[in-house]
Amino acid sequence: MKVTQADLLHVAVRPDQYPTNRLPELALAGRSNVGKSSFINKMLNRKGLARISGRPGKTQTLNFYGVNERLYFVDVPGYGYAKVSKSERAKWGTMIEQYLAEREMLKAVLLLIDMRHPPTADDKLMYQWLKQIEIPVILVATKADKIPKGKWQKHLATIKRDLQKDENDELLHFSSETGVGKEDVWKAILQRMV
Ligand code: GDP
Repeated sequence: MKVTQADLLHVAVRPDQYPTNRLPELALAGRSNVGKSSFINKMLNRKGLARISGRPGKTQTLNFYGVNERLYFVDVPGYGYAKVSKSERAKWGTMIEQYLAEREMLKAVLLLIDMRHPPTADDKLMYQWLKQIEIPVILVATKADKIPKGKWQKHLATIKRDLQKDENDELLHFSSETGVGKEDVWKAILQRMV
């Protein structure tokens, strides 16, 4: 897709701060450091839009990026991060869980997994929970450039097996360094935004 407009339009900590114009939403989830900010910037052709932070887990808000006045990318704080307090994490959990489980305009969740390693316990829990709430998931294996092309299928097969991937969910490789996978990921996203 040709992105002509991409802006951070809403930063929410409560449902009354979510957009009200009823465009379809895609939530982006993944462990801290998985490459989510880099993914957003690459997909939206905007270098500094989502902050690539050295300090993971900092964002505690739901960030709504409007794209081409057609859909929203919703950046969800990274999970699996120990350095926030327990109470902060509990609060964070409630907001995100409610958003993911109850938001009518949410059409799919794009879950980023680091392609270099097998899914972590947090990755598995997140995916299982998303399947429990019956939301379509697009799995994106990040940092593909760090693995020789000849090994991609093997790494993807491990992710598929360890997550017990639902056959209706896509699993695609991606690199924000090289842009490989970008068109396929856009295709998968747009199929869900109807
Ligand atoms: P986030 O915490 O999930 O938002 O992750 P970031 O986008 O901040 O990326 C974490 C680190 O991984 C940064 O050092 C990025 O430069 C690096 N990174 C992200 N995506 C890729 C990628 O596709 N390839 C490579 N080689 N490095 C990446």
